[in-house]
Amino acid sequence: MTGELILGIDLGTTNSAVGAVESGFPILLADADGRRITPSAVWYGDAGQVEVGRKALRRRPADPGRVITSVKRLIGRRYGDEESFCVPMKPAPDGGITVLDRSPEEVSSEILKELKRIAESRLEREASKAVITVPAYFNDAQRAATKRAGELAGLEVVRILSEPTAAALAYGLDKLEERSRVAVYDLGGGTFDLSVLEMQDGVFQVLATRGDTRLGGDDLDLALARHGAERGGIDFDSLDDSAKVRLLEEAERVKCALSDRGEETFRAPFFDGVHSLEVPLTAADLGKLAKPWIARTLTCCRQALADAGTETSALDAVILVGGSTRIPAVRQAVAEFFGREPDLSQHPDEAIALGATIQAGVLGGTLRKMVLLDVTPLSLGVETFGGLMNVLIPRNTTIPCKAGEMFTNAAAGQASMRLRVLQGEREMARDNWELGLFDVPFEPAPKGQARVGVQFRIDENGILEVLARDTTTGRDTVVEIRSAAIDVDDEAVERMVGESVEHAFDDMAERIFTEARLKAEELLPAVDQALATAGELVPADERAEIEAAAAEVRKALADGQPNPLKAAVQRLDKATEALAAALVERAMEQALERRM
Ligand code: ADP
Ligand code: MG
Repeated sequence: MTGELILGIDLGTTNSAVGAVESGFPILLADADGRRITPSAVWYGDAGQVEVGRKALRRRPADPGRVITSVKRLIGRRYGDEESFCVPMKPAPDGGITVLDRSPEEVSSEILKELKRIAESRLEREASKAVITVPAYFNDAQRAATKRAGELAGLEVVRILSEPTAAALAYGLDKLEERSRVAVYDLGGGTFDLSVLEMQDGVFQVLATRGDTRLGGDDLDLALARHGAERGGIDFDSLDDSAKVRLLEEAERVKCALSDRGEETFRAPFFDGVHSLEVPLTAADLGKLAKPWIARTLTCCRQALADAGTETSALDAVILVGGSTRIPAVRQAVAEFFGREPDLSQHPDEAIALGATIQAGVLGGTLRKMVLLDVTPLSLGVETFGGLMNVLIPRNTTIPCKAGEMFTNAAAGQASMRLRVLQGEREMARDNWELGLFDVPFEPAPKGQARVGVQFRIDENGILEVLARDTTTGRDTVVEIRSAAIDVDDEAVERMVGESVEHAFDDMAERIFTEARLKAEELLPAVDQALATAGELVPADERAEIEAAAAEVRKALADGQPNPLKAAVQRLDKATEALAAALVERAMEQALERRM
C-alpha cells in the first residue's frame, strides 16, 4: 500500500519504543539486538559523547553523575517544579531547567534520535515525521516542549497523542461499540495514571484522568533493594551511589523474575567492593512490599471515576498498560477493584507505541480502512473557470487537515475574484452544494497574472476556514464556514456519492469538454492573430495544416462533443508549434536589433 511514512513513538519516562506501519500492519521496530524497548536513558561523556538506552544504563554504575534517566519529568517544567532528580538541576535563563547544561528537550531529542535511527535502519529508508505520545495530564508547555524535542531530533511531529488514547487504539476499536467507555490503567516505571475515555463517533475523548507522577515500578525497586539489603544486614541508606545503583538494578531484575515464577534469589556479589548479598525472595514477599503501593493507585482510580461521573459497572473495558502491570498482584487488585477481568490482549509495555503507530498509519494513509478520526464525508473545493469543481480536500480525508492552491484572474484588470466554496462529488460546480460565496479583492493585473492563494483548513472540530491571499499585496481574506464541512447526514452523503457514480461518465465528458473549450477559447484568437501578422514565417503546407486544425476545433466546439474537441485542440496545439517558435525567434531578433 502506498502512503507516507510516519513513525509512532512512545516517549516514556522509563522506556521508549517506536513503530511504523509495514505492509498494512502496525508493528514495533527492534534495534540491532532485536529489542523493541529502549530505556529512556542518556549518558553524556566528558568529551561530548552521547549514548542512549541500554548503553547509557551500562555506564551508570561507573558514572552515575552523567547518566540522565526520567527526563520526561522535567520536560516543559519550570525550575523549582521538581524537587529532586537523578542529576543536579540548574535554572535556565528562561525559567526552565537544565541538567548537565542541557535542556530537557535536548536530552529527550537524543532518545528520539536513537528511535529514529532504529526505525531507519529497520525500514531502510528515511523517516522524518512522527506521532509522539504524552500523558493525558500534560499541559500545553509540556506538549509544546515534547514537540520541540521531536524537531531537534529531525522529526516533524504531526500529532501529539494522549497515551491513554493510544492504549485504547491498540486495544482495538473493532471491539468497542459506539459510545463505549473504557478505563486505561497505566503503571509504568515512575508514574501512574488512570484515565476514563469515551469513544463517540470514532473519536476518543478523555473524560477524566488522575494519577501520581511519583508512583511506579521504581518505588518497588527501591523497596525491594532496601528489603534485600536489610535481610543481609546492610543499611541501604549508608551506601554510596554506585552501590545503590547495583542493588537497584538487581532489585528490578528480581522483581521482573517474580512476575513469572514463585521465587528468585537476590544476588549482589561485592556490590560495594567488599560485601555480597544472596537473599532468597518469594512472590509473596514482593506482594507484601507492593501492597501499600498498589493501594495508592486504587485511590487515583476512585477519584478518576468520580471525576468522570461513572462507575466501574458502566465501563466496557479496563485496559492495563505499563510494564508494572505485569506484576500478578497488580492485576489481581485491579480485577477486584473494577469487578472484571482486565484486558490482557496487549503487551503492557508496547501498547502505547502500537497505538501511536496506528494513529500514524491513519494520518499517513497507510492504514486507510480504520476510521478512528473524523473524516470529511464529501469533497470540498471551489468553482473554477468554466463552472468546474476544483477539489481541494478530497472525500474521506482525516481531519484536521489543510490544502491549498493558487488561482489567477480570467480577465485583464479584474480586481476581485468570486470564490464559491463547494461540497460534493460531482465534476460540475452547479451539481455540488454551495457552502459559501465571497469575493476576494486583489490588485488589478493583466489576464492570468494575478496570484491568489486559496487555502482550506478544517480543524479538529470540523470547522472549515477558507483563507484567500493576494500574494502581491499579502492581503488576506478569511472566512469561517461553521461545521458545515463534516455535519452532513449520512443519507445526504449516500445520495451525493450515488449520484456521482451514476453520472460519472456524463460528468467526466462535461469536464473534458469544458477543459478543452477553455483551451480552445484561448488558442483560437491567438492563432488567428499569429497567422495574420506572421503567417509568412512558416511554409504554406504548415499554414494550411494550422488552418485546417483551427477549423476542426471550431466545428468540434459547435458539435459539443468532448473527445473530438480534445483531439482537435491537441492537433491545433501541435500544428502551431513551429509558428510559435518562429514568433519567439523573431521577437528576439527584433529585441537585439533595437539594442544595436
Ligand atoms: P514508562 O511508561 O514509565 O516509560 P514502562 O511502561 O515501560 O514505563 O514500565 C517500566 C516499568 O515496568 C519498570 O519499573 C519495570 O521494572 C517494570 N516492569 C517491566 N517488566 C516487568 C515485569 N515483568 N514485572 C514487573 N515489573 C516489570
Ligand atoms: Mg508509559
